[in-house]
Amino acid sequence: TVLVVGSVNADLTVRAPSIPAPGETVLGEDARVSPGGKGANQAVAAARAGASVALCGAVGRDPFREPALSGLTRAGVDLSGLHHLDAPTGLALITVAASGENAITVASGANARVTPAHLPADLRGFTHLLLQGELSPEVTREAARRAHAAGLTVLHNAAPARTPDPDLLAHTHHLLVNEHELAAFASAFASGGEDVAGQARDLLAGGPQAVTVTLGAQGSLTVTGDSAYRLPAFPVTPVDTTGAGDTFCGVLTAWLAQGHPLPDALHAAGVAAALACTRPGAQDAMPSREELAAALAR
Ligand code: ADP
Repeated sequence: TVLVVGSVNADLTVRAPSIPAPGETVLGEDARVSPGGKGANQAVAAARAGASVALCGAVGRDPFREPALSGLTRAGVDLSGLHHLDAPTGLALITVAASGENAITVASGANARVTPAHLPADLRGFTHLLLQGELSPEVTREAARRAHAAGLTVLHNAAPARTPDPDLLAHTHHLLVNEHELAAFASAFASGGEDVAGQARDLLAGGPQAVTVTLGAQGSLTVTGDSAYRLPAFPVTPVDTTGAGDTFCGVLTAWLAQGHPLPDALHAAGVAAALACTRPGAQDAMPSREELAAALAR
């Protein structure tokens, strides 16, 4: 079973002609409420890919709780480790301009109230831990430390970009970053690497056995102690790339947890992430196991 310790949000999205300037009001289209948060998104991607998945995190007791959990429930994610706190459910306020640009304000709410005391007392039964950067650094670090000690494989998607935590890196087996997040690591650790591969390779010294850099339409690059895997993107016509990175992380973890070798898991993750780009939304756009299998057989 894959354990995801991460954020759960409701995304409130409005399409408008433009993003309002300070003091300005713009009239947008109908608001759409959809499930989001990197933790929930990655848990849903992993569950759709066929893994057994449990999520540890927190929501409030307010009306946004139900839409925030709808995708997790539908995907069959075990929510026995989800906490219901007296704080608002995490909410992302998203304005999408006609130009395609967006502006996002995240109210972390219950996500910011998760403490190490909320982590599962017993990690037996879990083989993989998947982390992101939307809970407090203390919780994420403690989850990695305990899982590492308990023999789980720890995957960490260091998103959104922030100053890297060396202690967390030391307890991470597989680090996942996009180019922007890689740059944050490279500058923090004074990496001498000249290119993406060199910078990724430098991070192996900090603890991870593998570092994957997702490169958008250029696919992904993974380095390990003795190998490198450069995978081109699966060709699609992208409609909305929201959730591509989350799909990649969730599906990679699901495939590794199901016993597939790393190159096969990376390939499946890339194809699934590309499929998620062909439809609008985050969780709604993630492929089912059958759809992914059909694309892999092509
Ligand atoms: P993030 O969304 O975290 O910034 P990326 O943009 O790097 O992450 O995308 C994650 C993965 O999604 C990529 O490694 C790739 O496999 C897939 N992907 C993203 N954009 C495209 C695209 N235009 N065509 C095909 N695959 C894509």
